[in-house]
Amino acid sequence: MKAVIYGGKGKINVENIDEPKLRNDTDVLVRVKAASICGTDVRLYWGTMNDMFGYEAGDAMGHEFAGVVEEVGKAVHNFKKGQRVVSPFSTHCGHCYYCERDHITHCEKLTAFGLGKHWGSLGGGQAELVCVPNADRTLLALDDRVSDEHATVLPDVLTGVFASFEGMRGGSSVAILGCGPVGLASVMCARLLGAGPIFAIDHHENRLAIAAKLGAIPINFDQQDPVDAVKSQTGGRGADIATDTVGKIGSVNLAYPLVRPRGVLKMLGYIDPKEQIPIGPASLAHITLEPCLVPPIRRYQPRVMKLIADGKLDPTPLLSHTMPLSEAPLAYKMMGERLDGAIKIVLKP
Ligand SMILES: [Zn+2]
Ligand SMILES: [Zn+2]
Repeated sequence: MKAVIYGGKGKINVENIDEPKLRNDTDVLVRVKAASICGTDVRLYWGTMNDMFGYEAGDAMGHEFAGVVEEVGKAVHNFKKGQRVVSPFSTHCGHCYYCERDHITHCEKLTAFGLGKHWGSLGGGQAELVCVPNADRTLLALDDRVSDEHATVLPDVLTGVFASFEGMRGGSSVAILGCGPVGLASVMCARLLGAGPIFAIDHHENRLAIAAKLGAIPINFDQQDPVDAVKSQTGGRGADIATDTVGKIGSVNLAYPLVRPRGVLKMLGYIDPKEQIPIGPASLAHITLEPCLVPPIRRYQPRVMKLIADGKLDPTPLLSHTMPLSEAPLAYKMMGERLDGAIKIVLKP
């Protein structure tokens, strides 16, 4: 079968590899209908976060996929051949210390699709077939009102961002730094959950235009000081919540002055564990730093799927292009270099 394989720094190949087989009675084989490229995939392609995952040349790509059940293990009860399904990016055991507390993405036996050996070396979702372990616990039956393409935001980006905004007080002012897929998903979820005003900060005009369409006040930091712009519209205080979707020391430092004292800084960008993020600005102002990566996706998926099915969340602005899987090398280049207005690209096997 065809699969997207990492060929070393800056190289993506579409290779013919052996089809996966059911390994355990609790596995399900899924025929992939759509798989999206994540910002994490792009960082792996660039070679900038591979150490953390133990991700090497020859490893499979993709953890955001939806498809149809092809084959079912003997001990699987909830799924049948031919059923449409979507997966979270990871699996969990259901029994360990963390699973018992519903922190399923910190499961002691967590494995993830297409994310390298530290996370269990499961096959990649950017392929024709994927073997899904522990399927009754992992997979979710897909609502017929949700397309395969739209379903690809459920394993990670939109569900993850929704989880981070859930519980936010209505009427909160929110400043979102970075208008890539995570930033735009933040605008959508903050809006849906009653935030306002919402500020979207970036310097790519096409991305700011999408954020504005979604209901945010666009701020181009090349043209105006975002701190002045946010403070002038929040009574001089700053936003109740700032969201850093970039994950760099520079972006966190830029985000601090956007938050009012006793506000919250949501950290939605991946920060390298070796980075030393300053906490000085949080101390006196009592700003709460909130790590938001890898929330318990599977727990939130049914709700986010229903919001999409009911037309309350529309993934369309996140998915700029749909391309055949065979064009994955071009798709990675487009996403990595933001060519042709690329936000997130869906691959179809
Ligand atoms: Zn992802
Ligand atoms: Zn567990």
